[in-house]
Amino acid sequence: MGTNGITREKLIGMISGRNAEAQALYRKAYRVKLEQVGKLVYFRGIIEFSNICTKNCYYCGIRRDNHKFKRFSMTEGEILQCAELAWNYRYGSIVLQAGERSDAEFVEFVEKILKKIKKMSGGSLGITLSLGEQAADTYRRWFEAGAHRYLIRIETSSRKLYRSLHPEDHDFDRRVSCIAALRDIGYQVGTGVMIGLPGQTEEDLADDILFFREMDVDMIGMGPYILHRDTPLAKNVSGFDPARQLRLGLNMIAAARIALKDVNIAATTALQALDPKGRELGLQAGANIVMPNITHTRYRSGYRLYDSKPCLDENAGVCRACLSHRIRDIGEEIGYNQWGDSPHFSRRSLKGGFD
Ligand code: SAH
Ligand code: SF4
Repeated sequence: MGTNGITREKLIGMISGRNAEAQALYRKAYRVKLEQVGKLVYFRGIIEFSNICTKNCYYCGIRRDNHKFKRFSMTEGEILQCAELAWNYRYGSIVLQAGERSDAEFVEFVEKILKKIKKMSGGSLGITLSLGEQAADTYRRWFEAGAHRYLIRIETSSRKLYRSLHPEDHDFDRRVSCIAALRDIGYQVGTGVMIGLPGQTEEDLADDILFFREMDVDMIGMGPYILHRDTPLAKNVSGFDPARQLRLGLNMIAAARIALKDVNIAATTALQALDPKGRELGLQAGANIVMPNITHTRYRSGYRLYDSKPCLDENAGVCRACLSHRIRDIGEEIGYNQWGDSPHFSRRSLKGGFD
């Protein structure tokens, strides 16, 4: 199987590249990025508004059975304050992310907040949700209330690996059908994987890119797997190699840019957890989206999916200043006050392509 003429073998070669070969790959991916999506970096201010989760993924620090920390849920007023901050900072859009809950009270809470954020910004602040698996009806309600993008990572496209990372009742097929349902409703859809998981091969990662292509997604948010010491998966990992994780993460961004061309690709925070310049390296390897954290500092340390999460004690203003310097330093510009939809989505919509 190929994607835009790129074979699985070629993808495996790109993902396995090291040293000079990897550097050449990043340069090539950067050229493709300039051609396809340009040099503007778009910001998505991320609000991690609750660490309460009903699921039990083996890799994640906020899984249901981790009792070693305090659970929180931001109030409506606090979330609105963060959204207002993003608006004042001229970030074109925000991401609302949390652990997974699907009870009626939660669904209603999110719906209400979406409407209020839309109202506050006169309809112009874009809103992405990252709230896991939900009923199609819930996705529809949230879409009608103002969300227009949704991120739901498949985590790995290998069924076998998926099984080893989740308890029995977490279902790969359900996750795939959520991606399809979101597209049908009209969302711009993003997916992604964790990179460098125990037992994951370069072949698996190449298949992940083929999966993104097959699902025809608009956005990719993927990043290296990082240990969280209080999780079952961390206990099975020996010899965690941060340099390998970073290299694989960058190689995947570059390979995805070359294969998928006109999608939005995020330089995720997990890259920065491995290297202070991780996000800039991601942009230079083909990514075009950055997600500055705008969660109130008070809650940041409570939302710890993995160890050594960066910027835990910096407020949103510090993050903004630091990021804009870093981005200018590498010769890129920030697309303030813009939604920054991927050209892929515009083309797909023109084709009438929600099929
Ligand atoms: N609960 C929602 C959204 C929050 S989790 C969901 O699961 O979709 C967001 C992402 O964090 C997950 O999709 C997963 O890919 C990532 N994540 C969780 N634990 C991680 C870890 N230890 N290392 C790297 N990424 C992790
Ligand atoms: Fe919950 Fe998402 Fe973490 Fe899984 S990855 S335990 S669903 S927050």
